[in-house]
Amino acid sequence: MATMRVAQVSRPNGPFELVERPIPEPGAGSVRVKVEACGICHSDSVTKDGLFPGIPYPRVPGHEVAGTIDAVGPGVPGWEPGQRVGVGWNGGYCGYCGYCRRGAFFACERGQTTGVTYDGGYGEYMIAPASAVALMPAELRPVEAAPLLCAGLTTYNALRNSGARPGDLVAVLGLGGLGHLGVQYAAKMGFHTVGIARGKDKEPLARQLGASVYIDSQAQDPSAELLKLGGASVILATVTSGEAMSAVQGGLAVNGTMLVVGAAESMQVSPIALLTGCRSVKGWYSGTSIDSQDTLAFSARTGVRSMNEIFPLERVSEAYDRMMSGMARFRVVLSIGR
Ligand SMILES: [Zn+2]
Ligand SMILES: [Zn+2]
Repeated sequence: MATMRVAQVSRPNGPFELVERPIPEPGAGSVRVKVEACGICHSDSVTKDGLFPGIPYPRVPGHEVAGTIDAVGPGVPGWEPGQRVGVGWNGGYCGYCGYCRRGAFFACERGQTTGVTYDGGYGEYMIAPASAVALMPAELRPVEAAPLLCAGLTTYNALRNSGARPGDLVAVLGLGGLGHLGVQYAAKMGFHTVGIARGKDKEPLARQLGASVYIDSQAQDPSAELLKLGGASVILATVTSGEAMSAVQGGLAVNGTMLVVGAAESMQVSPIALLTGCRSVKGWYSGTSIDSQDTLAFSARTGVRSMNEIFPLERVSEAYDRMMSGMARFRVVLSIGR
């Protein structure tokens, strides 16, 4: 029987184990993807550390998967072997629950999560429901596409649904894994783009990514600086510090929205600022497979790419630790395949 190599975790907080397994066959409604690259994301700690209840182990993490369909199960119209595809965090939806019927596929009651409720992309092959699959354009190499399926998707989809229009002042708080993509998307979407981060040394990077204004939140009051520019229509908060979020929300324009995609524990909001200026604070989930497909197409067309550190599958532990250390510039990607 043909086998494949995967990196699995056998128990919460257990180490990665490189094991050989039989290559699985796709069931009804599913496709098999020959994986070429898989990004390592902070959310993979959900599987690595057992942060969600009821995760079946052993489990293969990985939800930034780029590869090629090599087998298709019964009842999968529209997908065929040879298509280049990606699979993100949203691991598919049922299509018939109340949320799905109202178009809120991301909130599906029977929704699956790639690398959590089924095996993900830290391996040579994986099975994915057809509803989780996005087409990957020919211009993108798998290692380029992989991080766009989570960090890229999250920032792109949040910004395009933010209500901001071309020319509006849009600030991106944080210049890390999410933020360095958020600044690029904001600039390519035609927003007057402001990068906000800690320290003068980040300014050249912010400008290189497309920010026309940079605010050093250590040396300047970011709210006051944004108000000097007329106030931000949208602040995309990509950081995980509630304190940093609280410090910028005073810079929202009238009708402005603070769009939260960074998983901070809590933040302070001024109700007076909200009600006097009709301002809002809103969260954004990442997106479903069609949003991933749009993200990849937009990125291929406009040249948006993440900065990546690339590791082979055998060095998965080192690669994972590198990502968790927060020192990576900016995304960590496994290159897979012999
Ligand atoms: Zn992720
Ligand atoms: Zn559903």
